[in-house]
Amino acid sequence: MSIRLTDKRKQILEILKKNRGSLSVADIHSKIPGIDLVTVYRNLDLFVKEKMIKKINLGTEESQYEYQDKPHHHAVCSNCSKVLHFTASDEKIKELIDVEGFQVDEIEVTVRGTCHEKKHLG
Ligand SMILES: [Zn+2]
Ligand SMILES: [Zn+2]
Repeated sequence: MSIRLTDKRKQILEILKKNRGSLSVADIHSKIPGIDLVTVYRNLDLFVKEKMIKKINLGTEESQYEYQDKPHHHAVCSNCSKVLHFTASDEKIKELIDVEGFQVDEIEVTVRGTCHEKKHLG
């Protein structure tokens, strides 16, 4: 890790580590008393750049940030916006993706569908 961890940075990182799942900037902002929004944005950007956390796009209005123990993918329910976290073999996915003149380094999959909540079944 090449960045200095100030108290605010530690707080932001701790919140992301403790949380199971992703958080928006607003979520994080609301959990730290007295921090300004710009500081949250700046530090999240920095963490992403340092590959300490991931910025994920789940098709929601706000970007989501997540600390991942293991790299994984996401399934989003179109009805209730529930997010499921799943792993899949990157090697298998790579076999299916064949872009000429391009080497795939990183794979992030977001799939959309309906979760098995009873409330969605009529
Ligand atoms: Zn659902
Ligand atoms: Zn996740």
